[in-house]
Amino acid sequence: MNKLTLDDITLQGKRVLVRVDFNVPLERNDQGAQAVADDTRIRAALPTIREILDADGKAILISHLGRPGGQPDPDYCLAPVGDRLEELLEERVRFSSNTTGSAVMDVINGMPDGSVILLENTRFEPGEKSNDASFAQALGQLADTYVNDAFGAAHRAHASTAGVAKYVEQAAMGRLMEKEVEALTRVRDNPESPAAVILGGAKVSDKMGVIDALARTADDILIGGAMSYTFLRATGQNVGSSRVEEDRLERAQALYEQAQDKISLPSDHVIATEMEADAESSTVTGDIPDGYMGLDIGPQTIGSFTDVIDQAATVIWNGPMGVFEMEPFANGTREIAEALAEATDRGAYTVVGGGDSVSALVQSGHTDRISHVSTGGGAMLTLLEGETLPGLDALTDK
Ligand code: ADP
Ligand code: MG
Repeated sequence: MNKLTLDDITLQGKRVLVRVDFNVPLERNDQGAQAVADDTRIRAALPTIREILDADGKAILISHLGRPGGQPDPDYCLAPVGDRLEELLEERVRFSSNTTGSAVMDVINGMPDGSVILLENTRFEPGEKSNDASFAQALGQLADTYVNDAFGAAHRAHASTAGVAKYVEQAAMGRLMEKEVEALTRVRDNPESPAAVILGGAKVSDKMGVIDALARTADDILIGGAMSYTFLRATGQNVGSSRVEEDRLERAQALYEQAQDKISLPSDHVIATEMEADAESSTVTGDIPDGYMGLDIGPQTIGSFTDVIDQAATVIWNGPMGVFEMEPFANGTREIAEALAEATDRGAYTVVGGGDSVSALVQSGHTDRISHVSTGGGAMLTLLEGETLPGLDALTDK
């Protein structure tokens, strides 16, 4: 990959602009103030931040949060994230309500080496998403060095994730980025076989390219979740009123024919007439009757999928097997999480990614029994597809 890492750059006495992924969920506390609801992403950035501080560099942190639409919005202010970071780091974290400009520059120049400042949400600026050159340059002016540690945003070519890199002396990957790229490149290019890929979730369109790419190196591709119904329909099955992406049927059929010996589709389903937590559910094998929709994989499918996982040396999982947010349809996803945890225990290399997949994994309580839990959804899929990540591409040697 030939990108620089923290090992290759000077940190001491440097102003190091670090793009982190602090796009965390917020909630209102009892006093009505915003607070961090899940600090997983903040924790994931700690190794890079600590390393810069230990080396006596200045850590200048930038991130996006939510979708404020290119203008300031108090609901997406990063200050509560800074408060949480301060607790986790056990170091003072300064906060700047400006993202660029001379006022921030003065604060940065005045703060001692080995200290940290968090700047306001990059998406308060219209130039962030448009990757505007003057906004990227204004970010670059704050620092000597740029470190990208926001793997979850690396598939986007924004000013803070890509554009800024050319306006600094040196640009490198942070430790989280390095770990993600290493783990995911390994399972993409050199998975120990037998290698199994489990895909599920809602959006078939996002995941087609991954099936295509991984069919080359994987031995088994298990498809569940909503996306399986587009494939089942493409093979001529009746799927009732299950979610189907009509405009992807042709592609699904082509993919299925091309990798038929590797692809497994669900043979039975948990069905209901509506997607409701208190819906009456039943199990059906084969065709789904009209008026019913498939909302989880059935017991027979769980059995055949877990048999494959039990034999695998490498397992990649993205996308829940059903509507795991509702108890009647949560079982398939839970059983797959359990099977992956057991596979890890006996020495398989397991990778899980995707926002909803990771929250399902957390719900199952097995997070610590997975070899690599990715912080990326779209970025993970893009990397697995073999497409370039703009956030990584920008880190060229100078
Ligand atoms: P990830 O975030 O892990 O990449 P996705 O966003 O692609 O996953 O998909 C997750 C969503 O898919 C969940 O909200 C889940 O309820 C939904 N889902 C899974 N199976 C089905 C199904 N059979 N019918 C409708 N929605 C489903
Ligand atoms: Mg999702």
